[in-house]
Amino acid sequence: MGFAEIQGNDQVKRVLQLALRKKRWPPSILLIDSSQGEAKKLALVLAQAVNCLNLDDDGCDQCYNCQAIKEERFPDVLMVEPVNEVIRVEKIREVKKLAYLRPMVGKRRVFIIDQSEKMNEQAANTLLKVLEEPPSTTIFILLTSNPYLLLPTIRSRCQELQLSPVTQETLEKYIEGLGRDKKEARLMAFFARGNREVVDKLNYQELRAQRKALWSIVEAGARGGIPAQKIKDYGQYTKRQRQLWSQELAILASFWRDLLLVKLNASPELIINYDFLPELKEMAHLVSLEKIKNSLSWINEAAEEVKKNLNIQVIINSYLAHYQGKKNGKDNLCSD
Ligand SMILES: [Zn+2]
Repeated sequence: MGFAEIQGNDQVKRVLQLALRKKRWPPSILLIDSSQGEAKKLALVLAQAVNCLNLDDDGCDQCYNCQAIKEERFPDVLMVEPVNEVIRVEKIREVKKLAYLRPMVGKRRVFIIDQSEKMNEQAANTLLKVLEEPPSTTIFILLTSNPYLLLPTIRSRCQELQLSPVTQETLEKYIEGLGRDKKEARLMAFFARGNREVVDKLNYQELRAQRKALWSIVEAGARGGIPAQKIKDYGQYTKRQRQLWSQELAILASFWRDLLLVKLNASPELIINYDFLPELKEMAHLVSLEKIKNSLSWINEAAEEVKKNLNIQVIINSYLAHYQGKKNGKDNLCSD
């Protein structure tokens, strides 16, 4: 690993390496990564850098400590992750207890708290007590995609660093390197939204099936309302994960965006869903520009609401109301 393996984010890396070199290390830092991309990897690189036996400002990736940290089997580096979407107080109590002990084999104990916004109130308050009196040989690295869900008192105790997503071009090149052609790479990079880890997990065939299912919803809406069964099926989505919902909103947005481009006779090069081009062309005749614009702005709002952790059921109801439209109503998709 080492800093060189972290994509982009040169400024953040400079700040961190400078702190390492000057040995002025904040006891707790908050890595904000809205694309949930490189944060975890960066946290592990930091854990290496403060424990490396060869270097002062980076992980060498060769020494025993660096190797063990990379493989997540180093006794002084503890990764805390939510279980069933929650980080419970019992886990943070364990962290608290360990935090005041001297490191077992390394130079410093490092606690990485992934998705730290998922600590429940009791857990957050327990962590706060440790952050207020940080043990000198311990470093806390909190990761989050949404800092607004953290207690302000926790945020004020941490040095905050905002990571930026990997650029679309970098990601496309990376995917091409995995053996995909240009068009496939563009499509996958778009849906990975700056997150290389997502690319590694993304299955092209699954993505295609998922897009096919969602296209039928866009199509049904544009052709005259969604059949009752489809709405019922979509209601089942409430049981699914929030992340899946954001992915599906991104796919819906991509279709409406492509419809807009086709309607404006833009170059086919710009179309994300290139494999749906004939369908998009046909559909572009059926929907007005205003309808496309309304749909896009609704999806944007819904995506923001998902990010803010609002109740998924409320978002879905609003979604269904939008797509169902009202007979003769202004919002009916087929009222054009
Ligand atoms: Zn090392």
